[in-house]
Amino acid sequence: MQQSYQAMTWHSAAWASVNTRVHAGQLPHALLVGGERGVGKRLFAEALAHKLVCEQPQGPDLLPCGGCKQCKLVAADSHPDVRFYAPEKSRMIKVDQVRALSGFAVASPQVARRKIIVIDRADQLNINAGNALLKTLEEPTADSILILLQETGRPVLPTLRSRCQSLVLPTPGPEAATRWLDAELAEAEVEVTASAAQRSQALTMARFAPRLALEFLAGEYVTLREEALSTFRRFMKSEVSVSEAAKPFKTLGPEATLWLMELWASDMARISAGGQGRDTEAADMLGFLAGSNPSWRAHELLDAIREARSAQVYNANPELEAERLLIQWLGLMPARKRRVS
Ligand SMILES: [Zn+2]
Repeated sequence: MQQSYQAMTWHSAAWASVNTRVHAGQLPHALLVGGERGVGKRLFAEALAHKLVCEQPQGPDLLPCGGCKQCKLVAADSHPDVRFYAPEKSRMIKVDQVRALSGFAVASPQVARRKIIVIDRADQLNINAGNALLKTLEEPTADSILILLQETGRPVLPTLRSRCQSLVLPTPGPEAATRWLDAELAEAEVEVTASAAQRSQALTMARFAPRLALEFLAGEYVTLREEALSTFRRFMKSEVSVSEAAKPFKTLGPEATLWLMELWASDMARISAGGQGRDTEAADMLGFLAGSNPSWRAHELLDAIREARSAQVYNANPELEAERLLIQWLGLMPARKRRVS
């Protein structure tokens, strides 16, 4: 476990709840852990898996002892009874992955008392994969625990949800988020140089989900986003075609594209309602759009973005979805600003 995990203080209520269940011997065989993108769901699951395989958890908080065989295997990232499943190159968790998981669930644990199966992004299971997982959930084996992770706002199939106990990780406030981000950047393996202003902007854009802010600061995201924004501006002035404008969004990927467009559309709704946008770099353009459109237009756009997100689950073509949304954005420009080409 990383040192800075200790600084995820906003997880403490969830830990208290888990510890109570463990002490009472009432840990469910399936747990659904929800929370916004970037609040540390995966780290929580890793820490929980570690706690649940340790032979001598310490104290009332049941912290892993660090010295037993199980702890050593976890530290070496090679515990045979702990498995993580996440969407691979495709955006979905595949049926094959779920079948492998089901086989693992029914086999006996190799070295620990129980097996821990983590499904990262359980909201990315389509109907087929979900049905395959349902069998495992319906016929639980006594020695396996499933931990499903779900991003807020992304539905998990109701048949799966109803068989899990839920736990929600809250989003930290600005102070706790900043403290964690500073600690994480101080111990980061890959050096990330970010000024206090950049950190603060990344946190604001990430709505204080600190892991997401870190992703913004560490990855190519900042550059790709700048490119997408500048092409988007030119598209809104009819300087580039829709297929040209969709290109940087394609590089950004469908998840980030929808996330960014959602941020802009909700910023526009905020500005329309007299508030301030969170993406300061796009604020001038969004302010202009908010000033030249009735406020319901921003909500109409938000609906379209949510629709595109659900379409993603059914393998819709992400490029076409991006183009469709771009055209809808263009519809917000006053006619005189749009050049007929
Ligand atoms: Zn241990």
